[in-house]
Amino acid sequence: MSRQYVKISREEFEKFMKPFKARTSIRSVEGEIIHRIPLQNDFSIWVYSTVSPKTGYSRERGADAIRTVLMYKNRKAVMRESKTLRTTTWEKNLRQKIEDLTNRTTEYKCPWGHGLVRRPGKKGKGSFYGCSMFPECRYTYKGEKRLSEVYDPKKVPPTPEKKAK
Ligand SMILES: [Zn+2]
Repeated sequence: MSRQYVKISREEFEKFMKPFKARTSIRSVEGEIIHRIPLQNDFSIWVYSTVSPKTGYSRERGADAIRTVLMYKNRKAVMRESKTLRTTTWEKNLRQKIEDLTNRTTEYKCPWGHGLVRRPGKKGKGSFYGCSMFPECRYTYKGEKRLSEVYDPKKVPPTPEKKAK
């Protein structure tokens, strides 16, 4: 079965991104335009458009797909969605993925001041609050106190030591 791929123009992609108030930057290595959507608590979503600034169009159809990555402080990839194929329904599919990642962000911080995200539970059941700096920080919220009080800048515990094992 063959999928129906479409060519996406730079204008078309920018129009789609407009409601998300994204900022654009150009990736030098692959020469692909990245749209960065700023979110709460230093999170952002990076959308790798596959659109080349040189041609103004998406690269060879079917050769690659649109990637969406949740970033923390623009340097740590926290989680990513499955790729969005450039089929006729790309806009609907991509919008869904952006919404899913947006809903993973929270306003809360771990005791060391990193943003907390909602991570999917085991076998896809439920979700839990975990640190965006995993695996460097393995903090997970277990309901010991109100989530809004987890981060108290005056009472930051010592940095968790890296396990020797
Ligand atoms: Zn943390």
